[in-house]
Amino acid sequence: MATRQLARPSHLHPPSSSRSADCYVADVLVVGAGPAGSATATLLARAGYRAIAVDRAAFPRDKACSEYMGPEAVRLLDRLGVVESLEAAGAFPLRGTAVTAPRGARLHGLFAAAGHAPFRPTGLSVARRILDHTLLDVARAAGATVLERTRVDELLYEGGAVMGAVVRDVSGRRGTIRSRLTVGADGLRSIVARRLGGRRYGYPRRVAFVAHVDGIPGMGDSAEMHVGPAGYVGLNPIGGGRVNVALVVPAERARAASGRADAFFFETLGELPGLGQRVAAGRLARRVLATGPFAVRSRRITDNGAALVGDAADFFDPFTGEGIYSALRGADLLAACASVALETPGPVTHAALAPYRRARRHAFLGKWAVERLIGWSMASPRLFDRAVARLGRRGTMAHTLIGVTGDFVPASAVLNPAFLARMVL
Ligand SMILES: Cc1cc2nc3c(=O)[nH]c(=O)nc-3n(C[C@H](O)[C@H](O)[C@H](O)COP(=O)(O)OP(=O)(O)OC[C@H]3O[C@@H](n4cnc5c(N)ncnc54)[C@H](O)[C@@H]3O)c2cc1C
Repeated sequence: MATRQLARPSHLHPPSSSRSADCYVADVLVVGAGPAGSATATLLARAGYRAIAVDRAAFPRDKACSEYMGPEAVRLLDRLGVVESLEAAGAFPLRGTAVTAPRGARLHGLFAAAGHAPFRPTGLSVARRILDHTLLDVARAAGATVLERTRVDELLYEGGAVMGAVVRDVSGRRGTIRSRLTVGADGLRSIVARRLGGRRYGYPRRVAFVAHVDGIPGMGDSAEMHVGPAGYVGLNPIGGGRVNVALVVPAERARAASGRADAFFFETLGELPGLGQRVAAGRLARRVLATGPFAVRSRRITDNGAALVGDAADFFDPFTGEGIYSALRGADLLAACASVALETPGPVTHAALAPYRRARRHAFLGKWAVERLIGWSMASPRLFDRAVARLGRRGTMAHTLIGVTGDFVPASAVLNPAFLARMVL
């Protein structure tokens, strides 16, 4: 089994163009220290491997996200040992989600009523500034080396396998990190995923504007999703009277926001009757962050010496609030496979990562289908309204759907002819 100390051998030199003499050697290099990267580094360091995580950002940092997690994400956070500290930092226990359709139909799904016992009756909402920083601290405590403000510029290859990366710190100094497995946990615009190839940009092309607003009237203990004719808005209480407000619009529409994101955000919210006034009654607590377009997937998630996890592998539409769960679950699956594969000397091969690919398909196939189903029905406001009205009237169906998106009810509970027929007929 590998030791935990990172070696920095003097006989290895950085590329000649480099102004830095830094060169690390590790079993695993994790590129990106969001939830996927921190969890992967933690689990592999706990398994006794030398793990190094690099992120171009300095933590704590903000991230454009609705900051909503269902009960199953809480289970994974609990396994990493962070739930208590998140709660102590003010994380908000969510009972479920209320959805309002374009023509006013409404459903309210509760985790506790979904028919399958969740890990807890509540999900959790917490600012990503807090969540990601907490997870990174856990990776450090597990023995991973963490380099912040360090960007991966390029991958290193040797004998047809990825063997680490060329990195650059904030002052522009370059160095290399050599590793037997390089994990791309670097999010939507992943450089690792681009180098592995097979990146697919899909539809709908949407852009999100995310703010923190204090004192919005009428918030309860569930998140709210409001679907309009051309996009949607999520309101999510994140603790301390603060609400995460995320506006998602088609990319063409978002062009009008260039250089004026705050103004665009409030103008567009104002078009949704009732909602604009509610949000405007609050006080902006953080500038509006914009991100997108985000419908992107990788068809090649492993290669010799490399694997993708989290958004770098595939992105779930924010509507169902499953990205953080998928990042943590993907990290679990990858760490389970990699900790076995790393027992064999040399770079971890594409073949040795086959169990990871299979496990991902098994874990995520149903979720991809449900996400598509919701995305397609949203494209037709009339159909969406009808489905929400049916689900709202038949309360248990609404709870089941929220349980599926909360990741503790199997997707088959929704993806079956009886459920689908009752939803639209
Ligand atoms: C508008 C919006 C709302 C969302 N709402 C929710 C929600 O409510 N609930 C939910 O579960 N999910 C939500 N998601 C999805 C969720 O944000 C992502 O799925 C989640 O952040 C994925 O985690 P990750 O670790 O894969 O990537 P990230 O969190 O994006 O982390 C990637 C890290 O990689 C670093 N990085 C990138 N490139 C490099 C490089 N070259 N070198 C070094 N570091 C690099 C970045 O700095 C970043 O820290 C939402 C997403 C969007 C866009």
